[in-house]
Amino acid sequence: MRYGFVIDHTCCIGCHACSVACKEENQVPLGVYRTWVKYIERGTFPNTRRYFSVLRCNHCDNAPCVTICPTVALFRRSDGIVDFDGTRCIGCKSCMQACPYDALYIDPATQTAAKCHYCAHRVEVGLEPACVIVCPVQAIVAGDLDDPASRIARLVATEQVQVRKPEQGTRPKVFYLGADAAALTPQALERGESYLFAQTGTDRGAPKPAPPDTSTLKDLQTLARTVYDVDHVERPWGWKVATYLWTKAVAAGALLLPALGVAAGWSEGGLLAGVVAPFLALVFLALTTGLLIFDLKRPDRFHFILLKPNWQSWLVWGAWILIAFGAVTGLWLVGGLAVHARLLRVLAWPAILLAVAAAGYSAFLFGQAEGRDFWQSPLLLWHLLVGAVLAGAASLILAGLALGSGAAVIGLLKKVLAAALAAEALVLFAELFGSHPNQDVARAADLLTRGGLSGPFCGGVVLAGIGLPMLLLLGGTPSLVVASLLALAGHWLYELLWVRAGQSIPLS
Ligand code: SF4
Repeated sequence: MRYGFVIDHTCCIGCHACSVACKEENQVPLGVYRTWVKYIERGTFPNTRRYFSVLRCNHCDNAPCVTICPTVALFRRSDGIVDFDGTRCIGCKSCMQACPYDALYIDPATQTAAKCHYCAHRVEVGLEPACVIVCPVQAIVAGDLDDPASRIARLVATEQVQVRKPEQGTRPKVFYLGADAAALTPQALERGESYLFAQTGTDRGAPKPAPPDTSTLKDLQTLARTVYDVDHVERPWGWKVATYLWTKAVAAGALLLPALGVAAGWSEGGLLAGVVAPFLALVFLALTTGLLIFDLKRPDRFHFILLKPNWQSWLVWGAWILIAFGAVTGLWLVGGLAVHARLLRVLAWPAILLAVAAAGYSAFLFGQAEGRDFWQSPLLLWHLLVGAVLAGAASLILAGLALGSGAAVIGLLKKVLAAALAAEALVLFAELFGSHPNQDVARAADLLTRGGLSGPFCGGVVLAGIGLPMLLLLGGTPSLVVASLLALAGHWLYELLWVRAGQSIPLS
């Protein structure tokens, strides 16, 4: 059994009865929506035409929200409905990043994620979803797609239906009949400053991506514009997630470099490598954990990640990797304090592997955020690993200078920092100027290189965060301090803008 919807836009009159019935049936608070009606217009007055599209969760057969949810709060039922259990939700917002259709919101009353659940409570007692029974023109058809005798199965089999973003591979089960293709394709829509009756969006100060390039959307003929829509959360993840990437890079890099030194036989530990480096790693690991918890809408439930885990989610794997990394770092600190060179040699390879895992697992987590095409870059793992080496080298230089470490150690760290800065420049160049798999990725990259974020990106990241530190590395101790600080600040800004750019492309 696979429940789905057909929404027939050959007869939809855009009356919003479905949205209102859904609100009433499911007690959906003001300002958030489980289903909504979007209006778009094409053409120039007087030759214009308006189209409606009814948008909601697609109850995907291959639902990325279910995969990423760390606590199985989202799950696919045996009847094909993608349902949610608010009592398990920790409010991490990862489902909002994974869903390519903008179907989820945070309920302001419970601070947990919610979405259309096909009125499962009605379906279970033999009733149809509220939106179906209220529609005055029977434009919404619900039923079992696996039953060839059902009306919905016959419509899907015999009519030219479309789904939203089929290229995402989510196998959506909401089929559109007679909808204008642009109404289902946010890349084809221009978003102005105002709608029919109101200003657009809550995030009015946000930089807008460049308008779509219609030359690559020839099948949609002409650019259409959205003239009526609901408000959407523009960026579920903000500075806390970007800063978590940065603090995690410092923690991983601060242990990775001394561990590599010990594994290579260049170091026996000592005050910097054996004590200060693991101490720094533990402090930044604690900050990382704090930021992760602080970013949850339900921080009181953070332990659900460990106690109610979804082993498909990289959020869960990430939590365990960070715990293991913390344990090895703690042991390293014990070995350093006890001046136990043999223990450090034993720990070196586990420390290297766990530092790499701690720095890099976010590449797989962001990869599960399938709604954000910009984050699907195969270079992301390198971006994170290079960032860890850069942040580790810069922070160890500052610590080493403060401790009065020898010139040989500082000189080696300086070379590592120079190499990491060069590698960061290469990765950044390849990420932004390499070939992009689709227009959304190109628009997000443009936002950094030529659009609304280009000022802080070019000035703060490229010049002040990479170029200037590289020059300052040629100078003496004071310029080395400034170079390290600028490299750390530049890398934080890079993460902030990168997280922001990925969320700047509208999903619906
Ligand atoms: Fe619904 Fe989005 Fe999850 Fe698909 S990915 S089942 S549309 S919430």
